[in-house]
This record gives sequence, C-alpha cells and structure tokens, in this order.
Amino acid sequence: MVDDERDGVRLTSLDAPLGDGLEVTKGELVDHLDANAFRLVPQLAGRPLSVKRVRPGQEPFMQRNVPKGAPDWVRTVPVWSYGAHREVHQVLCDDRRTLLWLANQRAVEFHVPFFVAGAEAEPTGIVLDLDPPEGADFGVVVQAAELVRRALGDAGLAGAVKTSGSKGVHVVVPVRGVPPEDAAAATRALAARAAALDPELATTAYIREDRHGRVFLDSTRSGSSTIVAAYSPRIRPGLPVSAPVAWADLPSVRPGDVTVRTAPGRLGDGDPWAALLPDPQEVPADLVAEGHTI
Ligand code: ATP
Ligand code: MN
Ligand code: MN
Repeated sequence: MVDDERDGVRLTSLDAPLGDGLEVTKGELVDHLDANAFRLVPQLAGRPLSVKRVRPGQEPFMQRNVPKGAPDWVRTVPVWSYGAHREVHQVLCDDRRTLLWLANQRAVEFHVPFFVAGAEAEPTGIVLDLDPPEGADFGVVVQAAELVRRALGDAGLAGAVKTSGSKGVHVVVPVRGVPPEDAAAATRALAARAAALDPELATTAYIREDRHGRVFLDSTRSGSSTIVAAYSPRIRPGLPVSAPVAWADLPSVRPGDVTVRTAPGRLGDGDPWAALLPDPQEVPADLVAEGHTI
C-alpha cells in the first residue's frame, strides 16, 4: 500500500480503489483535492461543511458532524441539527491540511451554505438549482439556464453557472445586504419569472408528478441549505467535477466533461469560478416583494 505525508497529514492506501464502481484510486481523489486546494479552500473557508464520503463495500454517506479523533488543529463550529435533534460540530475547512485530512477519509463531495459561520443573517449568495427531468438530454438544462440568465438580466442581476458534476447545473448570484428571508424570497421570484418565460420548458413545481418532463428550477437551496462547491468531485464513476462554465460556452458543455482526470487540462492554472462570479449585488426590492407573495 502506498502511503504519503503532505503538510503534516498522513495519507494512506493511495493506490487502493476509492470506492465501489468509482473507477479511480484514493490517490486520484487526494491529488485532485490537493491540486484544487487553492480554489476550493476560498469557497469553503469559514462555512459549516458537509462532506459526502465513500468507503469500499459501503453506501456513500453525508457527514456533518466532525469524526471522532480529529486532530486538534481542525476547526469546527457548533450547529444545531434540526434533523438529528442535537448539536453537531461541523468542520470549517480553512486550509490545505484540513482538506488533505478530509481527503484521506475519502471525503469526495464538499457542500457548503451561502453564509459564513457566525454571520448566518448575512447571506453571501443565492442559487438556483436546475434539475433535468428523468432521461432528458442535457440540452434542456442549458435552455433552462438561459431562461434563468434572462430573468436575472431583467432584474438587473448577474450570475455565474457551473455544472453540478452530476445531472444539472447551478446558477449562483453573489449578494450583499439582504436578510435570509428576503434572499429566499428573491430566489423564489427569480425561479417563477424564469419558468414563466417558457412554461413548457421549465417549472417550479416541487411535486415531481407535476413537472411533466420539464426542468425543475429549485429555489430552496439558498438560505441554510447547501450546494456542492465548484471543483468538488461527485460520487459517480470517474469522479466528474462541478465545473464552472462561461455563459457563452454553456451550449457546448457535456455534464461529464470535467473529471478528476481531465480537470488539469480543462480548468487551467487560474480560478475560473472566482473569475466568472460577479461582485456581490444588492437585491431589487420588487423582486423580494414578489417572492414574499409566493
Ligand atoms: P444534480 O445535478 O444531480 O441535481 P445536485 O448537486 O444539484 O446534483 P440536488 O439533489 O439537486 O443535487 O441538490 C442540490 C444541492 O442540495 C446539493 O448540491 C447538496 O449540497 C444539497 N443536498 C441535496 N440533497 C442533500 C442531502 N440529502 N443532504 C445534504 N445536502 C443535500
Ligand atoms: Mn435539486
Ligand atoms: Mn441539482
């Protein structure tokens, strides 16, 4: 078994399979996260982290509470878990060594909310999560993303788009000076306006049976929910990565294009997600008011 040590973190069994059916080694996960630490850590820093981990022979599992035996240098924040009815301690992944420590535990997916711990009342962004209908071509997601872009533009806002690394895309709008309830309302209004631009293509229906083959514009991931970070791998064969896309390039994107293997050539040396994200914007009052009626 190949072991290594980086930044004082012991990395074990790097030549072993990462997990069942994933077609990559644990070392390939570690190398991807290490190479992307400089663009992942800025998205994760200060935010209560949830990771999705794998283990050979086990189902993947979402982990919010810090695992027992964490080194004393791993920062955590206490968070009340409504699901678990208790306080959990979530990791704040503020540096490369914490990321490497998580990588060694086969943490594959990195999910964070749009707020920094201690500043829950100051959302840093809103997001629309676009989910294709079962069996649909990715092209319909691209068309639906264009509707969201138009709705944003009509509201005087700008957003950036990334693939989820799984089936759909995420449109992220950095915001400032907006309370959480208003951010959530604005997200609902944007989804409704985007769907109204082409009601045959997109829907805001929460009930699956009501979607009738249309792309679902999910407005509920703003607020205390999470979204997977850009550059995070996903637990799917070959480890596809949530990849930033310039709006102009969206029509030619395929969801599995960027994987831990192709990422070095596809992502370049810079931080395309940071480059694509507009500066934090104020949210128009009429959009908020409209959202509070939904
Ligand atoms: P896909 O393209 O397949 O929809 P996705 O990451 O957008 O991939 P969704 O199910 O649409 O997956 O969920 C959107 C986001 O909501 C996720 O990225 C994740 O951060 C969060 N999320 C969804 N389900 C859970 C869950 N069970 N536990 C914690 N977070 C979740
Ligand atoms: Mn969704
Ligand atoms: Mn989704």
